[in-house]
Amino acid sequence: MILIDGKQTAADIREEIKGEVSELVKQGKRPPHLVAVLVGNDPASMTYVNSKERLAKKIGFDSTVLRLDETISEADLLKTVDELNRDESVDGYIVQLPLPAHIDEQKIIMAIDPDKDVDGFHPVNLGKMLVQLPGFLPATPYGIMELIKRYNIETSGKNVLIVGRSLIVGRPLSILMSQKREGGNATVTVAHSRTKNIKELTLKADIIITALGKAHFLTADMVKEGVVVIDAGINSIDAPDTKRGYRLVGDADFENISKKASFMTPVPGGVGPMTIAMLLKNTLQAYKLVES
Ligand code: NDP
Repeated sequence: MILIDGKQTAADIREEIKGEVSELVKQGKRPPHLVAVLVGNDPASMTYVNSKERLAKKIGFDSTVLRLDETISEADLLKTVDELNRDESVDGYIVQLPLPAHIDEQKIIMAIDPDKDVDGFHPVNLGKMLVQLPGFLPATPYGIMELIKRYNIETSGKNVLIVGRSLIVGRPLSILMSQKREGGNATVTVAHSRTKNIKELTLKADIIITALGKAHFLTADMVKEGVVVIDAGINSIDAPDTKRGYRLVGDADFENISKKASFMTPVPGGVGPMTIAMLLKNTLQAYKLVES
């Protein structure tokens, strides 16, 4: 079994971007600037945003976090978005989700300038993806496509099963993998909570992508020998014997499936680290839209 090491691949990608940024700076140009907007004090969101800021700075980007109170009104947040759209020193920005319940997330996403939408959630970017025009791909599906590419995993003509149809993982990935492109040309099936007899589908799949958010949903008896499993799930389970009292596991039972799989991602250290790396790649791309 070949372990798909997302941690190392993400580090490699960051090194590549860092090399490009240092070249740009040597030529007297400014570095790319990424802004993250964080509303409120959700612990998971704070952790993500802190990692994004730290890793962006480490590769030589300018990185700013706008920390806004969770009571901010939708109108004021829209004003902030408008300012970021007009601020020429900002190449790309993200509004960390989820937002507080009184704010309409879709309204905020729609207000982001698509050319600065480095999360790739704006319908303009999703539409560009659909017709295969250059744009920003959502970071997690983009990261999975990059792992497939860098590990030379054959997808052409393969049966791919994606479990989960969310707009940030499963649905865009199903489009990418069925398109005529590198990492694509697959016969893709998308499963979701209404899917019946999922085991019949998993047993037929050459490649399974789990993105549903249910700890150890996919078990060894559900997969065939030689399967490729890419696990995007991040689930916290109780672990009283650990210092933190919990540990993170994926949607697939790594311990047992890895004995049958040909390739598999671990959790943590698989898809997770790739997401931020691809966000940084999108930010460099946004910079190049303006600077070249
Ligand atoms: P959502 O909750 O938005 O979507 C979950 C999807 O899984 C839905 O389509 C749902 O179906 C489907 N689903 C739920 N239960 C079942 C089931 N029993 N059988 C089949 N399908 C099911 O989750 P996200 O897409 O946001 O996240 C999924 C997982 O990926 C989470 O663990 C999350 O933490 C992780 N994640 C990881 C990222 C990373 O950086 N690695 C980034 C984003 C997410 P239905 O549509 O019918 O409700």
